[in-house]
Amino acid sequence: MKINPNYQHKLILFCGPSGSGKTTIVHHLLKKFPMMRFSVSATTRPKRENETDGIDYHFLSPEEFRAKIANNEFLEWEEVYKDRYYGSLKSEVDRILNEGNIALFDIDVVGGLNIRKNYGRQLLDVFVMPPSVDELHKRLVARATEDEESLRKRLDKAEEEMHAAFQFNHVIVNIDLQKAIQEAEDKVLAFLEEEFPEPDEAE
Ligand code: 5GP
Repeated sequence: MKINPNYQHKLILFCGPSGSGKTTIVHHLLKKFPMMRFSVSATTRPKRENETDGIDYHFLSPEEFRAKIANNEFLEWEEVYKDRYYGSLKSEVDRILNEGNIALFDIDVVGGLNIRKNYGRQLLDVFVMPPSVDELHKRLVARATEDEESLRKRLDKAEEEMHAAFQFNHVIVNIDLQKAIQEAEDKVLAFLEEEFPEPDEAE
């Protein structure tokens, strides 16, 4: 794999509705690119059976999450609905970049657009689009991780998020997962090879 050694201080953002396939794509990229590290978000949602605290998320109580907000520990955070928080921790990103690795985010659209404001060309932003809301519905039902109410909220949020796709520099429509993964890999590789000015040379 030919990658410009100047990849340091780069960040990659994958956004898109829940069920769009972005998490699968992100997991694939983490295996493929050894210098990539997942920015583990904090959340107050309950842990799913297949998840591990500290690996998939830092699972916190709403009180713990609010204490971190008060302490200015987040790069961005959101309260999606009452007491259901998600946020990207500054400490995660600082650690990853200081170790000379690439930070990879899997977050929602609002969070993604907020993060993007803080970075210029050092960040690659990709929106993963499901083929349709119907297909998204089918995928979420098949995944069977959500109850009726959470499913409905996710679908409402997904419809809203799909309108934001045009705000991203890169969009991948996930019709065929293997093709979407390949497209993601190509975009990442091109981005990692790209030279960009050192922070103090940038205008
Ligand atoms: P899930 O509950 O399915 O893991 O995630 C629900 C949504 O929250 C997904 O779209 C996921 O990408 C997003 N999310 C995960 N971590 C963060 C974060 O740190 N900040 C924001 N804004 N959204 C997040």
